[in-house]
Amino acid sequence: MTDKKPILLIAFGGNALIQKGQPGTASQQIENLKLPMKQIAELSKDYTLIITHGNGPQVGNLLLQQESCEEVPKMPLEIIGAMTQGQIGYMIESSLNTVLMEIGINEQQYFVTMITYVVVDENDPAFRNPTKPIGPFYTEEEASNLSYNMVKTDKGYRRVVASPKPLSIVERREIKKLIEMDFIVICCGGGGIPVIHKERKFRGVEAVIDKDLASSVLAREINADIFIVASDVKGAAVHWGKPEQRILQKVTLSEIDEYAKEGHFPAGSMGPKVEAVARFSQNTGNRGIICHLEDIEKAVRGDAGTEIRVKAQKSLEEKCQRKK
Ligand code: ADP
Ligand code: MG
Repeated sequence: MTDKKPILLIAFGGNALIQKGQPGTASQQIENLKLPMKQIAELSKDYTLIITHGNGPQVGNLLLQQESCEEVPKMPLEIIGAMTQGQIGYMIESSLNTVLMEIGINEQQYFVTMITYVVVDENDPAFRNPTKPIGPFYTEEEASNLSYNMVKTDKGYRRVVASPKPLSIVERREIKKLIEMDFIVICCGGGGIPVIHKERKFRGVEAVIDKDLASSVLAREINADIFIVASDVKGAAVHWGKPEQRILQKVTLSEIDEYAKEGHFPAGSMGPKVEAVARFSQNTGNRGIICHLEDIEKAVRGDAGTEIRVKAQKSLEEKCQRKK
């Protein structure tokens, strides 16, 4: 193939498929994907791309479907996760294919969706304290007849599952091979299917992994040159929701870690994005950015989003110079 291109990993938030307030019909999801996929298609000329994505609303809908039907056996969460990797992978592939054809480069580009497992630790403390709400809301009576862990919310009872830390991506070797051949790889959907090691086997577990954290692990394992977390905000802000709110532009690792300690980035939304990007930059010295879905190309050029810079990067470069 051609000269090696830099590797760009983009983690798409749920709004790439379903925007706030939409029911999320198939045609809406495919329509929403047009803009992100246009950018992917353009970027594919200069970068080797990996796409990861969330699956919250899709899992919620599948759970609702299976809860409303007694005749069909219920599938465990790991299989629901695999189903969403398939359906979302299909939607991404078909909209990507359309755009590649529109700009006339479909013959040059290859892409593939990969069902992805992610290893978690069975002793992760998250298993003792499940916190992630998933699926439909139940009345108190319905909840008392179900064997799930439940949490009471304003809208009723909801099932909660553990959200353990991702440790390693099982298919990282396959992903590496595919990107070496310059395939666009769609993987780690919904943070991946959580599995634990049992002797020489993997076993799926009832949990969900944060997709930003799983994408960060993958970005480190394949040594991505740029890692982008794309969502529905211009970047990570300090004083979010307050009059003095300010989107951070270029920040150092120690600055963003300090803001995180001060509590600017809540768990379950901006917290994991900042954590994902900060640990990537710290580990690789490479560029990590949080940006709006519409601004991905701008962010790659350094003109949008919150970009975390590692101070030590210079000394790394100096070290390499000295070695030469
Ligand atoms: P995604 O589906 O992309 O993972 P999330 O809803 O999990 O998106 O996270 C993005 C949301 O985080 C934004 O829409 C915003 O409402 C919220 N948010 C919370 N704190 C902040 C912050 N400090 N800066 C920016 N956005 C924030
Ligand atoms: Mg999120």
